[in-house]
Amino acid sequence: MAHGRILIVGGGIAGLCTAWALARRGYAVELFERGDLPNQHSSSCDEHRIIRHAYGEMEGYGALMPAAFEAWRRLFGDLGARHLEPMPAYYALRGEDDWYETTRRSLRRMGVDCAEMPLSEVADTFPMLRTDGLTRMVRTEGAGVLYAARILADLTNRLPALGVRLHPRTAVRAVDCEAGTVATAAGMVQGDRVVVAAGAWVADLLPELAGVAVPSRQAVMYLAPPPQLAAAWRDAPVLIDIGGGGGTYTIPPRPGTRLKIGDHVFSRTGHPDDDRAATTGDLDRLIAVARGSWRDFDQYTVLERRICYYTATADERFLVRAEGGRGIVCSACSGHGFKLAPLVADRIAATIAGERELAMLPSWAAARDAHAIEFEPGAL
Ligand SMILES: Cc1cc2nc3c(=O)[nH]c(=O)nc-3n(C[C@H](O)[C@H](O)[C@H](O)COP(=O)(O)OP(=O)(O)OC[C@H]3O[C@@H](n4cnc5c(N)ncnc54)[C@H](O)[C@@H]3O)c2cc1C
Repeated sequence: MAHGRILIVGGGIAGLCTAWALARRGYAVELFERGDLPNQHSSSCDEHRIIRHAYGEMEGYGALMPAAFEAWRRLFGDLGARHLEPMPAYYALRGEDDWYETTRRSLRRMGVDCAEMPLSEVADTFPMLRTDGLTRMVRTEGAGVLYAARILADLTNRLPALGVRLHPRTAVRAVDCEAGTVATAAGMVQGDRVVVAAGAWVADLLPELAGVAVPSRQAVMYLAPPPQLAAAWRDAPVLIDIGGGGGTYTIPPRPGTRLKIGDHVFSRTGHPDDDRAATTGDLDRLIAVARGSWRDFDQYTVLERRICYYTATADERFLVRAEGGRGIVCSACSGHGFKLAPLVADRIAATIAGERELAMLPSWAAARDAHAIEFEPGAL
């Protein structure tokens, strides 16, 4: 068993999974979260997140996905609940780009099925989609929906039983990554290591990340379909539109969760403490691309307009690296970090335990070289 006291700042999926991975290795872990656990304003807290092997030109992240699915399988085994609903993901391509060829190549390498659907079948199968301008419809297996809020709730309940001390509503005012300390209103806490997983607030604690991990204000909409499309949506898969103007991603409704649409374009504006009421400016772009993806978008009933923040790096890669002599910063986001969180957390824990080299952490997390990544068969 390892010994040592690890302090974690942030109780989103990154912080919670890192606490889980370290506690299972025998570390004494304390986690500090400025809000409630889970925090409704974190990037992680939402009804769902998409998980998929298909990664377009970011083939390195695709190559990490079999191990990511395996990491989720282990976590769900420990939680005693599998908050992942497998379902295919369909990609509506509206113009030629490299996405299809690179995705097909990397899925084939992983043994994940990927096939084109005849365009003549799209309108009948997906009556909710616009078919004008469609150049390909691609079905991929090895995808699904992670029920994010349920995962966060179960992890929060499970961690104390593993010995993790949770400190909700405890803002960390400063981190000293050389000394291994965090400062809260109650005083200074000393650890052997500090992991900063502060999401879109990370640059408030580590100003050197300002301009590197940039907060990005994003809008999503929850909708109820018009009656004539309700049945089609009930059995729908994950739908991703790689269209002009950025395209959309759609998670279908399931019992207990709602139909959601978001877009792929980073706003790279705002601060996560800004007002969360969705403005016309927030919604205009999303509505414009949604009208380009769905037929009759204006017939849907809007249930909620939600503003979320995440961090975006310039190249959309994860930033996970050593800070000072005792710190590790985990900014594994750019809008695609949830699905990889248990795997990244396991890698951080393995690095702290000396099973992996600290110097390798940033390049592993940036996943630039797909062929350098060892992968095990997926476990969907
Ligand atoms: C709209 C949207 C859609 C997305 N879709 C997907 C998807 O389909 N698939 C996917 O894989 N990913 C997706 N993502 C990205 C994914 O949700 C994020 O990458 C992930 O949730 C980031 O988790 P995190 O723990 O790093 O950050 P967060 O969840 O934001 O957690 C950080 C926590 O740190 C706390 N904190 C900050 N500062 C302090 C402090 N000083 N003291 C104490 N606590 C502090 C915050 O309160 C917060 O709870 C999406 C994100 C958004 C917003």
